[in-house]
Amino acid sequence: MSIPAGTGAELHAFATRLYPICRSITGNGVRETLRLIGERIPLEMQEVRSGSKVFDWEVPLEWNIDEAYVRDGDGRKVVDFGAHNLHLVSYSEPVAQQMTLADLRPNLHVHRHNPDWIPYRTSYYRRSWGFCLRGRDSDRLREGKYDVRIASSLQPGSLTYGEFVLPGRSREEVLLFTHICHPSLANDNASGMAIATWLGAWLGSQPRRYSYRIVFAPGTIGSLCWLKRNEKRLSRVRHGLVLGLLGDSAPLTYKRSRRGDAEIDRIAQYALATLDPQARSIPFEPYGYDERQLCSPGFNLPVGRLTRSVNDGYAQYHSSADDLALISHQQLEASFHACQRICEIIEADRRYINLSPWGEPRLGKRGLYGAVGGNSPAMREHAMLWLLNQSDGASSVLDIAQRSDRPFDMLSQAATELEKAGLFREVRNAASGTTEFRKVVSRAKPRKSKAKQRRKRQ
Ligand code: ZN
Repeated sequence: MSIPAGTGAELHAFATRLYPICRSITGNGVRETLRLIGERIPLEMQEVRSGSKVFDWEVPLEWNIDEAYVRDGDGRKVVDFGAHNLHLVSYSEPVAQQMTLADLRPNLHVHRHNPDWIPYRTSYYRRSWGFCLRGRDSDRLREGKYDVRIASSLQPGSLTYGEFVLPGRSREEVLLFTHICHPSLANDNASGMAIATWLGAWLGSQPRRYSYRIVFAPGTIGSLCWLKRNEKRLSRVRHGLVLGLLGDSAPLTYKRSRRGDAEIDRIAQYALATLDPQARSIPFEPYGYDERQLCSPGFNLPVGRLTRSVNDGYAQYHSSADDLALISHQQLEASFHACQRICEIIEADRRYINLSPWGEPRLGKRGLYGAVGGNSPAMREHAMLWLLNQSDGASSVLDIAQRSDRPFDMLSQAATELEKAGLFREVRNAASGTTEFRKVVSRAKPRKSKAKQRRKRQ
């Protein structure tokens, strides 16, 4: 695997392009975001009409915004959406009226802990309006009349999401999912969008066993729409990852799937542990991003989440301080590298059955002894002995890497050589692998047992 020099800088630069766009769960900001991503990887755009029923939810009216501000008696804009997207509560309904400060106050929101930060607020499913501002600016507002204008529209339209589909040799899919509904917030979620885009471009350049589907969709309602439209093909999802919050200084963190023991759980935890000793693995909980929907009990998909901080796990979360200075080249690059590594192991992890399991097969006569590819012959030989001993269909190469404490890549390469030499056959999963291995073992017993011969004679 190689990461081109400057990948971290490129990721940051792309996050910087995405950052100023005013996104929400619907509207032109989402489409513009998908257009920019689509310049990098070909996206299929999907529109889901307002009012569409999705499980227990309904796609809301489409929201768009031109301008919004609060102007004081002197004509000075004291809050201006034009200065920062977060100044307006997302999904604010249109307003054009004059009001006193006392009447305005209930619609003004400040950050609970930091007077220099603008909080991020939304009101998707309850009609309302509001402005968010720095506490220090709010404190300076004087009594008097204010002009409030919100030039928004809430109309029948659609919810937009984008998909990048990469066919592989198998129809089984790896689902990668990132939310695209946050305006001007860098870690949450420009970092995830940038990394998912780069990952798509990289996967497109790689040979693929699995098919890959990268979904860029608004949080919650977007994943529900995706699930609804793909309900009949969900059994194809073999592994999945939700990506988000990948640029801050927290260590790489893997949140396990609801199942807790899915293959993706083992693969991601192994990948992170070998990349970074600080990496964490945390159990599933029904709070977070779209893993909430993808891992809801009716679907229970094998989907984990790769993140750094968890939701609400850093002070700047959902505030204007989650800006481009909070995400670093280094962290973005390391997160991207982790995604690549997870995909590499997904691709390479296989289960085999040993077709010659009676004693050790002779490796020398099959040309499997000796230095190849720079590996020490002893290391390679040990890798083969481990593989031959453990490949009874139940254990994958990753299982064997963990049990033997030997590098996955070396074992994976050695397994390919054993397959080429006719000693190994790949199997689909542990259940079918165990059955196939039993057949191999039983077929090789002496053709007729004494009992059978006796029966025949009678
Ligand atoms: Zn968020």
